[in-house]
Amino acid sequence: MSYRVLLFDIDGTLVRAGGAGKAALARALTELHAIEQPFVDISFGGRTDQSIARELFDRHEIPWTPEAGQEYLDLYASYFHEALQNQAPILLPGVRELLQKLHDDGRHFMGLLTGNIERCAQIKLEAFHLWPYFHFGGFGDHHEDRAEIAAEAFRRAERLCGRELRPHEVLIIGDTPADVRCARAIGADVLIVGTGPVARAAIDEAEPDFFHDDLSRLEDILKLIHAGRL
Ligand SMILES: [Mg+2]
Repeated sequence: MSYRVLLFDIDGTLVRAGGAGKAALARALTELHAIEQPFVDISFGGRTDQSIARELFDRHEIPWTPEAGQEYLDLYASYFHEALQNQAPILLPGVRELLQKLHDDGRHFMGLLTGNIERCAQIKLEAFHLWPYFHFGGFGDHHEDRAEIAAEAFRRAERLCGRELRPHEVLIIGDTPADVRCARAIGADVLIVGTGPVARAAIDEAEPDFFHDDLSRLEDILKLIHAGRL
């Protein structure tokens, strides 16, 4: 039976934002904490914005509080649009065609499951006019752990469907082992694409249910979505 709910990761799955995130994070550190040329060259793949912010605070020996983190991410978001315009973000292969097909099909609730805070998720997707494809999402505003974001997205999907969902009615589409782990946390199935920053060996080790090099093989991707696992 076809997957009822599809939860898409953003970075490395739908788009690549280049260095926009790092540029905006660095600018906000300079502005708020007077750090000239802050170090922001940390790993971003599969991370949540909250966890990235906390690591940057640690590295610069800034005491972390939820309020300080919130202030920082708010400022980061306010710089993000401009940073993205300077970076020429990339729409990944097959994405627009797949989203349009699924939209036209009308059988699926299409949501986001991302470590991005919602404002930045919206800015990234609006750059390619993709935001209207999504009905709901789990975002990184209130959670540092991706599994908690997945649980929130699942609850929102149930509210939209108006009934309890079985976990295998949900397919997560992402690009890193972190996407596999959060799928396992809620019992959902997971398709990983090879368009992110992670080596194939690490993806294989995480044992996703499905793998494709990217989303461009439209017929194959639609077939697995419509076959489901139930
Ligand atoms: Mg990703």
